Amino acid sequence: MAKILLIEDEKRLAATIAYNLKREGHLTVVAKDGESGLQSARQEAPDLILLDLMLPKLSGLQICRVLRAESEVPILILTAKDSEADKVAGLELGADDYVTKPFSMRELVARVGALLRRSGTTTQSVVRAGDLRIDLGSREVFVGEASINLSRKEFELLAALARCKGRPVSRRALLDSVWNDVFVGDHTLEVHIRWLREKLETDPSQPRHLLTIRGFGYKLQDPANQ
Ligand code: CA
Repeated sequence: MAKILLIEDEKRLAATIAYNLKREGHLTVVAKDGESGLQSARQEAPDLILLDLMLPKLSGLQICRVLRAESEVPILILTAKDSEADKVAGLELGADDYVTKPFSMRELVARVGALLRRSGTTTQSVVRAGDLRIDLGSREVFVGEASINLSRKEFELLAALARCKGRPVSRRALLDSVWNDVFVGDHTLEVHIRWLREKLETDPSQPRHLLTIRGFGYKLQDPANQ
């Protein structure tokens, strides 16, 4: 379970990939052009980046070069069948692996899993933050010994934050992940955060686990690390 940034301008392909990664338990953030992709890579701090090479505004190769100078994040490039040169260039620029379009979702998911394992990304299913315990497998949540009843959306929101524990998650990534294509706004997200705080925090007005990152989103934090 990881946070994955998908930079892909083909809308339908991006939706299919995001759907399949979500089914594997990953949180997927989608960027639809090179510029917003690079920006998301810097802001979201993903565990892995799926990078299409042919993108508007900034090419995949340019993004690859810039990112490699800044971070070690695993990059898997998505290349068109007839662009052998681009594939080689991508690997030379520091991409970790590639798949050639058209690829099967099964292959992509397997490559993503292998790359995450190689990079040592945690795939544990129980996330702890202070006295809060979230079991992503059984969908159970505990505060100390007490089992907490959450609605489906509340759990999905908490799970999305738990997968990225200690790191900020943008409002857009949370809305995409929890509410999919259904149009809901920031208000819905804020209301669900408030409900979660009322159920999980000792003092909901002074949250110690579910923190607001002003102008960006939220993060789940271990109170001991604040
Ligand atoms: Ca493309």
